[in-house]
Amino acid sequence: MSGNPALDLVGTVQSRRDRPVDLLAAPADLERWVLECDELPDQVSADAPALAAAVRLREALYQLALDRVRNRRFTPTSLDLVNRVAAGPPPKVELSDTGLRRSGDLRSALAHVARSGIVVLADRHACVKECARAGCTRLYLDRSRGARRTWCGMEGCGNRVKAAAYRARRQAARQEHAPGKTPA
Ligand SMILES: [Zn+2]
Repeated sequence: MSGNPALDLVGTVQSRRDRPVDLLAAPADLERWVLECDELPDQVSADAPALAAAVRLREALYQLALDRVRNRRFTPTSLDLVNRVAAGPPPKVELSDTGLRRSGDLRSALAHVARSGIVVLADRHACVKECARAGCTRLYLDRSRGARRTWCGMEGCGNRVKAAAYRARRQAARQEHAPGKTPA
C-alpha cells in the first residue's frame, strides 16, 4: 500500500484530519490486517490487550512520521515505545518449494512493524509524505523521481474520486426517471 508495513499500520486510521475511521476496531480486524500484510506472519491470534498494544504502536509511529514530515525532533515518548516494541523477537521465515513462509505471534509481527518504521524514519533519503487528498491523509513513501508525488497512490485516491462521481451521476439519472407521484 504505502510501501512500508509501519506506514500501512498508520494508514489503518483513515481521514485523520477530517472524520477519522479506525479500521482496527476489534481484535479480528488486527488479525486480518496482519494476514494481508506481505511481510508479516500468515496467521496470528489477537485479543483485546494485543489490539491495544498494536494501536499504541500505531499512534507512536504516526507521531514519529509526522515529526519526520514536519522536520522536527522526534517525540521522546513515541521514540521509547517504538524502540521498545522493535526489541521484540522477529517473525520466523522458512524456505520450501512453495516459497517463503512467515510465522510467529502478534508480538513478533509488531516487532517487525516497529523495525520497518525505524528503518524508514532513520533513512534521510526516504521521502515520507502525507497524502494531499483531504479525505485520505495516508502517509506514504514517495519513490518517484524528484519526489514530486502529492497523493498516496494516484490509483487508490483517483479511483475513489471517480467512483463517487459515477454514483452521483447514477443517482441523479435515477431520480430523473423515477415516476412522479400521482395525486389520489
Ligand atoms: Zn490518498
